[in-house]
Amino acid sequence: MQPKTIAQIAAELQGYDPQALSADAVLAFLQKLVTPVTQSTDLPLFEALGKVLAADVVSPMDVPPHDNSAMDGYAFDGAQLGDAPLNLRVLGTALAGKAWQGPVAAGECVKIMTGAVMPAGLDTVVPQEMVTSGHDASLICVAPRLVQAGDNRRLRGEDLTRGLAALRKGQIITPARLGLAASLGLPTLPCVRPLRVAYFSTGDEILSLGQAPREGAVYDSNRYTAFGLLKRLGCEVIDMGVVSDDPAGLEAAFRGAAAGADAIITSGGVSVGEADHTKAMMKKLGDVAFWRVAMRPGRPMAVGRITAGDGQGAGAVLFGLPGNPVAVMVTFLAFVRPALLQMMGCTDAPPPLLKAHSQEALRKKAGRTEYQRGWVWSAADGSLQVRTTGNQGSGVLSSMAQANGLIVMHHSQGHVAPGDLVDVMMFDGVI
Ligand code: AMP
Ligand code: MG
Repeated sequence: MQPKTIAQIAAELQGYDPQALSADAVLAFLQKLVTPVTQSTDLPLFEALGKVLAADVVSPMDVPPHDNSAMDGYAFDGAQLGDAPLNLRVLGTALAGKAWQGPVAAGECVKIMTGAVMPAGLDTVVPQEMVTSGHDASLICVAPRLVQAGDNRRLRGEDLTRGLAALRKGQIITPARLGLAASLGLPTLPCVRPLRVAYFSTGDEILSLGQAPREGAVYDSNRYTAFGLLKRLGCEVIDMGVVSDDPAGLEAAFRGAAAGADAIITSGGVSVGEADHTKAMMKKLGDVAFWRVAMRPGRPMAVGRITAGDGQGAGAVLFGLPGNPVAVMVTFLAFVRPALLQMMGCTDAPPPLLKAHSQEALRKKAGRTEYQRGWVWSAADGSLQVRTTGNQGSGVLSSMAQANGLIVMHHSQGHVAPGDLVDVMMFDGVI
């Protein structure tokens, strides 16, 4: 299926205005622009961490495979429990990994360790610290109403049931899901192949590391934040370095990226009135929209698809981000990340925003989404508090480096008073 063109998507969205796009409209647009990759491979478990499941994983067995004890104690038939103390003779011991084989009659029990298979016909375990024994260590007494029939027994299949989906297509393989797959005895998992994302920085004032400083020039930091953000998402990063502002270099970079990547991320050169050739080359080689997003930091953004001008294939999705270092990170977190997750086939819901009390008054213009770098902590009374981390200029990375989250002030929200609850997007996932 041919992906939709920018014009088709624009026509489907109500009130689409490329000169004043709300953050919600950007997300709605991107949702229609990107499509999930379909290729997948079976990967050994240690390589599957962080990948997206390409298919449901059906449990080949019951977990646990047998009824077993949840405690160290004594296993017996719970039908004997009543109003009188129950005296039981201990026949022997069931160990985890070494089941008790013989029959156990009424008036008898088996000492059992956590995880050991429940002996045939027994359904109840009394924890060892609850029983009393007299001179004869092979006799125990269970007082009335200490336990009920069936207590402290884990049932076969109570964790996972044979034939049912244990994991779902679209889930990110977290440490817990990795362990769960292992508990089913599965050596591999079907994984969506990693997204290939090409990144380059543009701008003649941008220095690569190792180059000597010169007046008016700044070191390329966007390449490193983009690398970090993409790696954390599990993408294969195609690092294309700094591309200087000449048409031939830009054309070669865009064509190369479109040929080898699912998505291209650039920074710089998309502002209104930008003198360089980046925008012209995006227009020449692709189907691209140039936006002014109602947000801060951020604002200029180019989005579309680069087809390398050869009409072959669907090309690569383009995210042309602004140049300012914090604007790059904020537009990535707000828009690029959800779009890439959709391309990865991920169906996990994003972690919810936290609500924290702002320590300060925050000025906020209604009619745009504003993000402020913040530090969230848990106060002595247990409430979550947030303060900003200093200079909020869109080029100031130090306040970003000190932050553990972004305060999100939504489109129609106004000023925030001290103590007001605000939404915060935390940088680290919940797990
Ligand atoms: P632009 O969007 O190209 O107008 O760039 C906005 C600001 O971001 C300018 O001050 C640039 O010098 C700066 N900038 C652009 N690209 C980078 C980069 N890769 N690393 C650090 N700063 C950058
Ligand atoms: Mg520039």
